[in-house]
Parts: sequence; structure tokens; C-alpha cells
Amino acid sequence: QSHGGFGFGPGSLGSGGKIPLGLRRKGLRIVVTGGAGFVGSHLVDRLMARGDSVIVVDNFFTGRKENVMHHFGNPNFEMIRHDVVEPLLLEVDQIYHLACPASPVHYKFNPVKTIKTNVVGTLNMLGLAKRVGARFLLTSTSEVYGDPLQHPQVETYWGNVNPIGVRSCYDEGKRTAETLTMDYHRGAAVEVRIARIFNTYGPRMCIDDGRVVSNFVAQALRKEPLTVYGDGKQTRSFQYVSDLVVQETIDPNARIEFRPNTEDDPHKRKPDITRAKELLGWEPKVSLRKGLPLMVSDFRQRIFGDHKESGG
Ligand code: NAD
Ligand code: UDP
Repeated sequence: QSHGGFGFGPGSLGSGGKIPLGLRRKGLRIVVTGGAGFVGSHLVDRLMARGDSVIVVDNFFTGRKENVMHHFGNPNFEMIRHDVVEPLLLEVDQIYHLACPASPVHYKFNPVKTIKTNVVGTLNMLGLAKRVGARFLLTSTSEVYGDPLQHPQVETYWGNVNPIGVRSCYDEGKRTAETLTMDYHRGAAVEVRIARIFNTYGPRMCIDDGRVVSNFVAQALRKEPLTVYGDGKQTRSFQYVSDLVVQETIDPNARIEFRPNTEDDPHKRKPDITRAKELLGWEPKVSLRKGLPLMVSDFRQRIFGDHKESGG
């Protein structure tokens, strides 16, 4: 599970054995910005399952109601159509701030809006956290490392980002969001977490978001050639997502088409997860061979509307 590493469990807020019944917490009140998106909706499922009350705040730029529709009617669930660039007044215990388009195609679509979402949107949510004393989590990204010169990437690495390139609206936006998060922590004592997420794939991803896994899965299902940008030697943290693995899972005869690569595309990317293992006891559990077929059946259902199991 991609969000397994958020390290944001109830911890000391949980109901301990000695707290009188009437004073025990019933569950936390949590706002998830971007909760109708791919990662956000899976996070919402997890929070709802553990008994929290969840408010999803989303402007539906890339998110979809379908991703959270199964919670409609549950009194613990609320959804607000709202753009985080505008201020918002709520009373909550925790804020998971995910709102931001994540795929290059989407975040490059309106770069200024991407920056506003990251800077003004994060400022608004941190302001909310400060006002109500809520714990705040920012979903940052491996893109803060840019085209990294250090491998694998450790948390202390400052990165190699082009400040004026076509990916900067996202990279620098997230870097500023991290800065704001730490300044609210240092200056206003807001309790904060920053999760730098690396390439994540799975069911509910936008089918046409242009990312490599969604492209390959959708292309293979539609019997279109798999588009490889540049020489195809770029790596990401799901390093085994090669055309071969994807091909095997869906269509062993899929054709491959080479295309020019996009600007500033990072060549290599891989997290050093030593500290996450030590401090949070976290490591990924779902291998690509197990996870990819789950995404394939979701995409198959959304593209063709059937329920057939995936497999070659
Ligand atoms: P996504 O595009 O599926 O979800 C983003 C959600 O935010 C969508 O529901 C969208 O409608 C909403 N949103 C965008 N701008 C908004 C705004 N101004 N106001 C309110 N809502 C807004 O993307 P995702 O993959 O689920 O990513 C979620 C978070 O995780 C993002 O912050 C992203 O930067 C981060 N992240 C994701 C990955 C990944 O591989 N998926 C990697 C690194 C970081
Ligand atoms: N890529 C590719 N074919 C595609 C889409 C992407 O070869 O159809 C490459 C892209 O150039 C990059 C890698 O796959 O090197 C991952 O790209 P993606 O957009 O998924 O994520 P990000 O660049 O944000 O890591």
C-alpha cells in the first residue's frame, strides 16, 4: 500500500486502557485534501476503515467522485467541492494535504495554477492547521530531488532541480510547500509530517494521465503500441516496470514505439528507505507482479466496462 509509510497513525491520540469510557476518542476528525484522487481515495478508505470521520476537500481537477462514491451515505464521510487556493474554515484534528495534480501531463497543463495550488493551497491548509491545532501532513514528492546526482536518494539530499524548466512548477512548488511546512512547524509549533512519495501506481489512477504505468497498461489493453520516451533507459523506484513485465501481464505481443523524451525528465530515481524502515518500521509489501494485475483489472473494467480478471 503506497500510503503505508505516512507514519500518521493515531499514536498518543488513541484511546489507552486507562482513559474512562466516556472520554475515549471515537475516532479522529480528518480532512483529506485531494481525497477524490488516486492516492487520496485509497487513504480515505484506510481512514474510514479505522473509524475516523473524514472530510474530503477536492476541486475535481484530476479526482473523480467515483473514487469515493462507496462512502456516500456514511455519516462519517463528507465531501466538499473546494479549491485549496481559497481559504477554508473547518474544525479537525488532522489534515492530510494531498491536493495537487501529480502526473507531469496534468501539472504542466496550467503551470501557474500548479504553483498556486502548492504554495497558496499549502499556506491555506497550514493556516487551518495552526488555527485549530491540527497535525498536518504534506504529500511531497521524489521530484524535489529533480534529476538527482546522488543514488539512491536519502532524506538529507538537497536535490538537483532546474528552477526555470517545464517541471519546475511542480518541483519548486513542492519544495516551497516543504519550506512552508517546516516554517509553520518552527514558527507556529504546528505538528507536521512530510512524505516524499515516489512513483506510485494502482487501481483508480487516471487512465490518460500520461504516466508510464497507466500509459503502458491502457495501451496494452487497447492493443496500441507501448510508447517509450527517449532511449527507455530511465529508471524509477518501480524499476521492474519494464515493457517486458507489462507486456507479459496483458499482451505478450504488444508492439513498442520509441518517442522523443520530454524535457528535464529525471534519468534515475530510487529512494533510500533505510530511515523509514528504522523509524517507522515501514517497507513496501506489494511486489510489482502482485500489484500490477490489480491495476490492470481496474483499467480493463474502466476501459471496456467488464469484470474479467487480468492476466496474459
Ligand atoms: P491525483 O491527481 O489523482 O490526485 C490529486 C487530487 O487533488 C485530485 O483529486 C485533484 O482533483 C485534487 N486537486 C488538484 N488541485 C486541487 C486544488 N487546487 N484544490 C483542491 N483539490 C485539488 O494525484 P495522486 O497521484 O493521488 O497524488 C496525490 C498527492 O501525492 C499529490 O500531492 C502528489 O503530488 C503526491 N505524489 C503522488 C505520486 C504518485 O506517484 N502518484 C508521487 C509523488 C507525489
Ligand atoms: N515514459 C515512457 N513512456 C510513456 C510515459 C512515460 O517511456 O508512455 C517515461 C518517462 O519519460 C519517464 C518515465 O517513463 O522517464 C516515468 O514517467 P512518468 O510520467 O510516469 O513519471 P515521472 O517522470 O513523474 O517519474
